[in-house]
Amino acid sequence: PPAIRIDNVVKRYAGVKGGEGKLALKGVSFDVPQGGIFGLLGPNGAGKSTLINILAGLVTKTSGSAEIWGFDIDEQPRNAKRSIGIVPQEIVFDPFFTPFEVLENHGGFYGIPKAERRSEELLAAVHLSDKRDAYARTLSGGMKRRLLIAKAMVHSPPILVLDEPTAGVDVELRGQLWELVRKLNGEGVTVVLTTHYLEEAEELCDEIAIINHGELIAHKPTRELVGMA
Ligand code: ADP
Ligand code: ADP
Repeated sequence: PPAIRIDNVVKRYAGVKGGEGKLALKGVSFDVPQGGIFGLLGPNGAGKSTLINILAGLVTKTSGSAEIWGFDIDEQPRNAKRSIGIVPQEIVFDPFFTPFEVLENHGGFYGIPKAERRSEELLAAVHLSDKRDAYARTLSGGMKRRLLIAKAMVHSPPILVLDEPTAGVDVELRGQLWELVRKLNGEGVTVVLTTHYLEEAEELCDEIAIINHGELIAHKPTRELVGMA
C-alpha cells in the first residue's frame, strides 16, 4: 500500500454558537508513496496542520477516509497510530525530565518492555548522547527539536511526519534538521513534512503536494514543479 492515502477528506471546524465553522479541508485526496521524503507545501492557514492532526488522531475529519500503512484510521486506529510518528510544531515535554527519561517514559506509554527500548540508540541518532541526563529545560531550541524527533521514533514507526520542522529556526539549525531528516530517510523511514518554504520542499523532497485554502492545487515529483513557481 502507499505509506499514506488521503481520500476526499473534508474538515469543517465547529462554528461558534451554532454558526457555520471554518471549512479547513475541502475534499483533499493524494497518496504518499513509501520510502521517500514527501512535502506538504502551502501558506499559513492552508490546512496543513489540520491534515496532520487528522492523521495523528487529534482532530476528527468531517468526511472522507484516510489510511496509514494500509490501516484505515477509523477502522484500525491502533494499527494506524502505531505506523506513524508525529513531530509536532510545539515543544511538548516536561521541562524537568531528562532526554533519556522523556524517551523511556514514551516507550512505557507505547507498552514497549524496558529491555526492548532504544533510548540510547535514539539519543545517539539525534546527536544528544551527551545530554542524556540534562534537564530538558536546559536544552537549546535545536536540541529540543531533535529530542522531539527521537520521541516520535520511539515505537519504530515506518513513517515520520514533521509539522513545520524548521519554522522560526536559524540557518544552521535548519541545516542540521535537514541532515537528520535525510539520515532517517536513508535508514528506510518514509518522511512527510509540512512547510511553507518552497525552497525547503525543493531541497529535501522527492514529491510535493501543494494545498491552499483547503484544496489540493498540485501534486508532482519535485523536479517537475521546480520552475513552475
Ligand atoms: P472546537 O472543537 O470547538 O473547535 P477548539 O478548542 O479546537 O475546539 O477551538 C475552540 C474555538 O477556538 C474554535 O471553535 C475556533 O473558533 C477557535 N480556534 C481554535 N483554534 C483556532 C485556529 N487555529 N484558528 C482559528 N480559530 C481557532
Ligand atoms: P496551516 O497548518 O496550513 O497553517 P491549519 O490547518 O492550521 O493551516 O488551518 C486551516 C484553517 O482552519 C485556518 O483557517 C485556521 O484558522 C482554521 N482552524 C485551524 N484550527 C482550528 C480550530 N481548532 N477551530 C477553528 N478553526 C481552525
